[in-house]
Amino acid sequence: MRKAKDNENVPKLYYRPNEKTCPSCGRPLYRRCALWHKYLVTLEGRVHIFSFGYSCRRRRCSRVIYRSREAEELSPKGYSFGFDVITQIGWWRFWDHRTLDEIATLLQSQHLPISRRQILYLIGDFLALLRAAQPAKIETQRAYFKRHGMVISVDGMEPEQGNEMLFVVREANLDLTLMAETLYSSRADLISRHLLEPVKALGFRIRAVISDADPNIRRAVETSLPDCPHQACQVHCLCEAGAPIFEADRAMKTDMRRDLRAKLRPISRELSQASQDDLQTAVLMDYCEALRDALRADGISPFKLAGLKLHDELQRLEQSLRRCHKKKNIVSYLPCWNLRSFAISTWNLICN
Ligand SMILES: [Zn+2]
Repeated sequence: MRKAKDNENVPKLYYRPNEKTCPSCGRPLYRRCALWHKYLVTLEGRVHIFSFGYSCRRRRCSRVIYRSREAEELSPKGYSFGFDVITQIGWWRFWDHRTLDEIATLLQSQHLPISRRQILYLIGDFLALLRAAQPAKIETQRAYFKRHGMVISVDGMEPEQGNEMLFVVREANLDLTLMAETLYSSRADLISRHLLEPVKALGFRIRAVISDADPNIRRAVETSLPDCPHQACQVHCLCEAGAPIFEADRAMKTDMRRDLRAKLRPISRELSQASQDDLQTAVLMDYCEALRDALRADGISPFKLAGLKLHDELQRLEQSLRRCHKKKNIVSYLPCWNLRSFAISTWNLICN
């Protein structure tokens, strides 16, 4: 059963408008009513917020009720979660790429027990807020666009074959998203109608378009922006040119990973059973963790090659182990044979 919230020790915060005097007659404003009050979850904890309405005593001005802008800006209307909580959750999800469970743990550590279901709702709210703020974001760059025009990039992503596609139009110089739409098909007329025409309607000069070599996007640009120079995206070209190297690197990384993981498993098992207070075990466990971390790394086409990176990491680990060997701190001084065998196995694993 759901427990009722304990509101006994929740701190109270009172808000009043910034205006102290009536703007039309200059007399002091007086407190007229409590406009609203609610319990709000903020990053600092739960608070009980009261917002008071003030007005002028003169009958002529008394129709206007002044309210605190600060209080209104704490949370969306009708919500019991503050903007700070919503944006923090959104940041963790989309910028830090945290999972739902990780976010719940982070909130728990800040004494904010919010259920996973509620976090999911708040992520949805964050996206709605982000979309609502988009026109204002474009507006702040109006002067720049008026002066320099726009260079737009169009790209489509299809997360699953045969499903809806996400199209994004960005301003390439400022790296600003202008439009993002999901379309059920990548037909040229749809791209034209839902993406290019609204961007055109913003009223700025479009100096050039960048996209991949997709024929639908090309046709859409020809229809909507007939005189606009259209260039193929260099990153797409590089990715395609680098694909064979990237694939070869990936295959090498997979082989290395498989071999090293098979060798690492028994060593980790033995270390986890050894005495945790021993310094040697702690150092060797650090080496295993570093190795595991190196094995986890992924590449990004075309330039970040995970196989080569793994190779470099292994060399660094090998050098570090060699230094330890030279100092005779790990391999030579060992209190028991078992530990010596761990060290030698780790050593062999990395050096061979
Ligand atoms: Zn007045």
